[in-house]
Amino acid sequence: MYRSHSCGELRASHINTEVTLAGWVQKSRDKGFMIWVDLRDRYGITQLIFDEERTPKDIMEKAKELGREFVIQVKGQVIERESKNLNMATGHIEILVSDLTILNEALLPPFTVEDATDGGEDIRMKYRYLDIRRNPVKDSLLFRHRVAMEVRNYLSKEGFIEVETPYLIKSTPEGARDFVVPSRMNEGQFYALPQSPQTFKQLLMVGGMDKYFQIVKCFRDEDLRADRQPEFTQIDCEMAFVEQEDILSVFEGLTRFLLKEIKGVEVDTFPRMTYDEAMCRYGNDKPDIRFGMEFGELNAVAQHKDFNVFNQAELVVGIAVPGGNTFTRKEIDKLIDWVKRPQIGAKGMVYVRCNEDGTYKSSVDKFYGQDDLANWANATAAKAGDLILVLSGSTNETRAQLSALRMELAERLELRDPEVFAPLWVVDFPLLEWDEDTQRYHAMHHPFTSPKPEQLNELESNPGNIKANAYDLVLNGNEIGGGSIRIHDRDVQARMFDLLGFTPEEAKAQFGFLMDAFQYGAPPHGGIAFGFDRLVAILGGQETIRDFIAFPKNNSGRDVMIDAPAPIDEAQLQELNLKLDLKL
Ligand code: ASP
Repeated sequence: MYRSHSCGELRASHINTEVTLAGWVQKSRDKGFMIWVDLRDRYGITQLIFDEERTPKDIMEKAKELGREFVIQVKGQVIERESKNLNMATGHIEILVSDLTILNEALLPPFTVEDATDGGEDIRMKYRYLDIRRNPVKDSLLFRHRVAMEVRNYLSKEGFIEVETPYLIKSTPEGARDFVVPSRMNEGQFYALPQSPQTFKQLLMVGGMDKYFQIVKCFRDEDLRADRQPEFTQIDCEMAFVEQEDILSVFEGLTRFLLKEIKGVEVDTFPRMTYDEAMCRYGNDKPDIRFGMEFGELNAVAQHKDFNVFNQAELVVGIAVPGGNTFTRKEIDKLIDWVKRPQIGAKGMVYVRCNEDGTYKSSVDKFYGQDDLANWANATAAKAGDLILVLSGSTNETRAQLSALRMELAERLELRDPEVFAPLWVVDFPLLEWDEDTQRYHAMHHPFTSPKPEQLNELESNPGNIKANAYDLVLNGNEIGGGSIRIHDRDVQARMFDLLGFTPEEAKAQFGFLMDAFQYGAPPHGGIAFGFDRLVAILGGQETIRDFIAFPKNNSGRDVMIDAPAPIDEAQLQELNLKLDLKL
């Protein structure tokens, strides 16, 4: 028996018990005649005491050799601690050690394995197994487990069953590149790793499984933006015989349950907003609605004066920064520089100070009088003491720029409180998105999403206008889930592929299996997938998902611990019939 108790469980009630503990040496303090050691395992820390008078001499000697992170086993008696540590669960007691076994020695760790560590991100990732010993990382993994369990419990209770779908598949387009795996047995052929189990969950509905879920890895070969992982986890769900309303209600239920169980937060019915409205009011399809600064469109009140920049713009739009009139000229100039950075891309920014006495002072006073500016204040809901910031240009770009500015200001003004939760549904997404580069329509969600049935007759004549039965669940400015009602009719699916530029042959080659299945009695169905890593991070009060993944990849998609990806040897390449022609 390695241990009778964990390092987190001994209390005053255990005093005088003989125990055996095992764990890692967090640190030791050697006073010569007395040695204290903090012994750590997943459950906590227990203080050990070795003392010249009461501990056998050879054990005392051995204790002097202990270094940080040695793995040891001790036997001893639980005794009352003289100076109690009330901040520690085990702080009432210590173990008077009578026997010590060193189970494994440890090199000096490259960073201190403590809550506040001296290790930078890179070194901690390289030695992630040491990092995991630290409370912040360990606790994040425990937290993730808890969320996963709650999800499983809830969905199982609702009648969902978890079904595993394969990882070695054919491409499922979710808008990213596939990771591919060469097949040894099928020369010149490749599997793709799933970007999501989308087609399989639909086939499970055709198979009559009715309610499916899976906490599942998905793989997308994207250019990595901050806080994206090439492999990530979804809570993937699908239901048969449902309309959009049914899906929204079940998964609103799940989200409400999680917020209650995990955060103790009660949320009412989630507000709903159409995609168009979200874009108008927040310039963004995943608005953070915990604070105001809603967009005020100013075309009607700012154009047709002598200010050409606005006259030529497709959209003139502003936000009112609460209390922003306290910003100094220098601070405002810095904000202007901020929106002009290439990442944001604005050409300039107009501002209006809303003075306490009800007057306005703007950077365009030459062109606009007090009445004009009062109209702007009205449109942006600006109050005395606020600062109105105005951008202009083409609609989509300007909205994106102002949205970035809104989020940045909210961050700076500390309006994004991680303990406040404001979920909402964004609905009625466009079915298609025009891609300038390829001069083609792309599916905004994915090609299996159903157009609004009442718009089906416009599918070919006015594709850009079609809305989809697609929805996103947004929490605090993050898209945490997205899904749709699916096409379950072969002909509609064929029209959709046609619209996306697939020839009938290509559609058949790639998705023949799905179109075939639709001919054998496919029920109406729909579903949703939650980004599990992000959901856990947000519930955990943080926005970096990496902290909640045991072995994450870095920003270049590398696992720096195992050093992957890596070349494979010639023999392996040959076996796979692959020739590398690297132009090095
Ligand atoms: N497969 C979709 C995704 O990964 C989710 C869904 O439509 O259910 O975003």
